[in-house]
Amino acid sequence: MNSVELDQVSRRYGRITALDGVSLSIPAGSFVAVMGATGSGKSTLLQCAAGLDRATSGHVRLAGHDITRMRERRLTRLRRDRVGFVFQSYNLLTELTVRQNVLLPVRLGAPRRRGVDDSLDAVGLGGLGGRKVGELSGGQRQRVALARALITAPTVVFADEPTGALDPTTGGQVLGLLRRACDHDGVTVVMVTHDPVAAAWSDRLVLLRAGRVVADDPTPQADAIAARLQNVFQAA
Ligand code: ADP
Ligand code: MG
Repeated sequence: MNSVELDQVSRRYGRITALDGVSLSIPAGSFVAVMGATGSGKSTLLQCAAGLDRATSGHVRLAGHDITRMRERRLTRLRRDRVGFVFQSYNLLTELTVRQNVLLPVRLGAPRRRGVDDSLDAVGLGGLGGRKVGELSGGQRQRVALARALITAPTVVFADEPTGALDPTTGGQVLGLLRRACDHDGVTVVMVTHDPVAAAWSDRLVLLRAGRVVADDPTPQADAIAARLQNVFQAA
């Protein structure tokens, strides 16, 4: 079973072609890293795959549903019930507590498939549920975001530069948690990153250039990823 399928997906913004005929199948329980230069279409790929943006042409399947022409209301529900998001900027409400933030999807009607305490324990924040998010460090905030993404036991977590604002050590903790969600809970992870060390946590590496997939292989070691990126950029 695939969690995500893109079939010849293109996304144009006026005269700019952000994605140019991308086909990609992401099996359930895999961890895919998407890399490429700034402007190569990474975020657009993530948004189209996650049903946050619409392909201009081609087809997208998400968590077993063809979302290509799905109505907005149904798509919103599918995202809410089956998809988790983690962004570089955390997207948390800093005036609310950790617990309140983790429960936001549930407040919006998503199924609570795990307990809050269980979700917080899973990201090493057990006991911090009552703290205001505004009082936490960046690494702690990103772990709150992860707990919020995991409380619904989603089919897929989409992460756009989840460690972009973190130092290597805290970034490594967040990546270890994504890896664990994949290995332990069978969550599919699709992660955009600039960082070869972050990408090295994945099983599979997709490289984009000018909106096209130029490589799609098992993930090598970080130094080999860096070398491969050099090649892709030089060929641009
Ligand atoms: P990346 O995440 O790899 O940096 P993006 O997917 O954000 O790349 O962008 C790919 C291309 O599409 C870029 O040329 C960008 O300027 C363009 N683009 C992205 N979003 C929009 C938008 N909402 N309106 C117009 N152009 C956009
Ligand atoms: Mg981007």
